[in-house]
Amino acid sequence: LLKPDGSIAATIFAEMSALAVETGAINLGQGFPDEDGPAAVLETARQAISDGVNQYPPGRGFPDLRLAIAEHQKRFYGLEMDPDTDVLVTAGATEGLAAAILALVQPGDEVLTFEPFYDAYGGLVGLSGADHRTVALQWPDFQPDHDDLRDAVSDRTRIILVNNPHNPTGAVFDRATLELIVELAHRHDAIIVTDEVYEHLIYDAAHIPVASLPGAWERTVTISSGGKTFNTTGWKTGWATGPADLISAITTVKQYLTYVNGAPFQPAMATGLRLPDAYFHGAAAELQAKRDILAAGLRNAGFALSLPSASYFIVADASALGVTDAADFCRRLPHLAGVVGVPVTAFVNRDRHESYRSLVRFAFCKKRPVLEEAARRLSALR
Ligand code: PMP
Ligand code: GLN
Repeated sequence: LLKPDGSIAATIFAEMSALAVETGAINLGQGFPDEDGPAAVLETARQAISDGVNQYPPGRGFPDLRLAIAEHQKRFYGLEMDPDTDVLVTAGATEGLAAAILALVQPGDEVLTFEPFYDAYGGLVGLSGADHRTVALQWPDFQPDHDDLRDAVSDRTRIILVNNPHNPTGAVFDRATLELIVELAHRHDAIIVTDEVYEHLIYDAAHIPVASLPGAWERTVTISSGGKTFNTTGWKTGWATGPADLISAITTVKQYLTYVNGAPFQPAMATGLRLPDAYFHGAAAELQAKRDILAAGLRNAGFALSLPSASYFIVADASALGVTDAADFCRRLPHLAGVVGVPVTAFVNRDRHESYRSLVRFAFCKKRPVLEEAARRLSALR
């Protein structure tokens, strides 16, 4: 987390969003939607505030939200769980990740992630005192090599941290990869923590929760959040599900992180999780159309693409534009074309930067006219 001069580094999202504000560029850096989610979800939060749902909720979250989470896992994935013991409401997926890592590892253990990795993973593993190992995901399909994965897991591995669908690449791991992860976790007595915040933003693939695979449940903690699914990233309301012993350990740590979170947002999340299937499919179809608008604009501007199967990010290779340092390019891009993206190296440890040095991540969770304007602006790069 420290820069070479000893100062603390701002996250890439803070740096690039500030640059967007300063230059008036279209911000396709930080991933957050520019539209509100379903009216029923917003209305439930408003009503909850009016009804006085404004004090500390129960430690594990309101029972009705825990029930809605369990019902959602059953409806979409056939997973059965006890809402009283197997579900914990958290302050976004971020707190679920933090509490899981802090609860389950000791200094000296290893946490394995895929690389590139969502930036918080590096920070959280660092805070826990564990060692961070990674398996590289390579352009253009960003699927892990199975031999690399076998080599990276050992008896020192305490957590295999999976992010599927994956940020920043939009990759969706195939069933064989997920099964190998479960097999390796068994062989080396590791716990799987799986971050599935993009579970519903999926286009050309189906979401397979790790916890639904044979033999996975008893050693898997699944983390998700309503931020992406219901366009409520600012509400920071998420959840962890898994076997009672793991959820109980994570709950213990959560008590000392936030204690509880977001009372009026909890009934609103329950409303969202109970929306009909058509909402979830419609939201994905709309995002897929947005993906395709931005993809066309990026291709037209000269980028090569790895078209994502999920998430709201596209990774674009700028090497045909002469780019060899995407971080430098991203600092110049607002001035060159009035658009902000983030360099994929922000999700990669320094020793691996070379393989990702021409890659830029762009978010497409923006209104269609905004993406069309971004596409127009990007054509200035040609
Ligand atoms: N995990 C991944 C992979 C993400 O992209 C994000 C981004 N928002 C988070 C976790 C954090 O989710 P939340 O805002 O619910 O904490
Ligand atoms: N998950 C979002 C992204 O990857 C936002 C992250 C953040 O603001 N910390 O862009």
